[in-house]
Amino acid sequence: MYLKGIIANGFKSFADKLTISLDGKNTCIVGPNGSGKSNVVDAVRWVLGEQSVKSLRGEGSMSDVIFSGSKSRKALNVASVELIFDNTDHFLNVPYTEISLKRKVYRSGENEYYLNGERCRLKDINNLLMDTGMGKESFNIISQGEVDKILSHSASDRRVIFEEASGILKYRKRKEEALRKLEKTHNNMDRVNDIIHELDLQLAPLKEQREDALFYLENKKGLDHYEVALLAYDISHIHMQLEEEQKDKEKKDQELLLLSSDTSKNDAKMIENHYRLEQLEKEKQDLNERLLKVTEEVERIHGEKKLLKEQSKTTKEENELKEESRILLEQKSKIEGNLATIKEDLKLIIED
Ligand code: ATP
Repeated sequence: MYLKGIIANGFKSFADKLTISLDGKNTCIVGPNGSGKSNVVDAVRWVLGEQSVKSLRGEGSMSDVIFSGSKSRKALNVASVELIFDNTDHFLNVPYTEISLKRKVYRSGENEYYLNGERCRLKDINNLLMDTGMGKESFNIISQGEVDKILSHSASDRRVIFEEASGILKYRKRKEEALRKLEKTHNNMDRVNDIIHELDLQLAPLKEQREDALFYLENKKGLDHYEVALLAYDISHIHMQLEEEQKDKEKKDQELLLLSSDTSKNDAKMIENHYRLEQLEKEKQDLNERLLKVTEEVERIHGEKKLLKEQSKTTKEENELKEESRILLEQKSKIEGNLATIKEDLKLIIED
């Protein structure tokens, strides 16, 4: 794999589209101070994911890399750089023989990344370049003054540089990751052991509860059986009671029917008796009147008799008067007898 070409447009001093072909014949770029040689290196590092503006010799924000204008040209609003790699040896782990990495930045500060023309994330580019020695931190690109920096690094920092360059950083990182995971797993295991211990403590009471629950379930079945039987018995018993009550009701209905017929009969009899009572009352009144008349007659005859006696009338007249008196007395006692019978009848009717 090798870098085949660089296409820059609007990046730093490259206001016009710049195409550098690296076909194996070019080995270096020369030029006077300030002619933009370092800008080419910045462009490469920028596409490879450089995020520090200072490393790119900018001032404040990433939009500083956009051509800022000159005496003869206006400033631009967008900068882009594209790197084209030959990957016929498949050094980069993708199925393409040529790979294009492109980065774009707008004045707003928004960055865009492209892999073979497809929009992608910075992370995708970092993953692709990891351990190839081409990452932004790699030392394939050594800027001015950085040789010094490498020499002044501590041994462990230098080791990182060599590991990255030799491609074992990936394994070191994986090892570190694995160790981190292992430690996490150990911690998790400790927690699991704690939980197991905790659960062990709960085991005995749970066992007791389980036995209770089993006992309950077993007896619940029996209880259900008895409850069903009891219910069936209750139902049949109630059913029988109901039938009896039904019969009783029918009997009572019958009686009620008879009583109501009796009542109507009694009502009729009462009306009849009432009528009869009225008649008897009337008869009684008539008889009373007659009795009064007879009594008056008797008294009158007694008076006459007495008078006759006094006047010493003849015995014949006396006998006639006696006879008349006797007949009247008989009538009186007969009327009194009738009256007693009527009273008796009246009493019976009233009782009825
Ligand atoms: P030296 O040999 O001194 O290191 P050089 O050839 O490497 O110089 P660079 O440092 O690459 O030159 O280029 C510096 C030039 O780039 C300066 O002229 C500077 O004005 C110009 N430059 C940097 N950033 C921008 C920008 N955003 N817009 C326009 N021109 C820029």
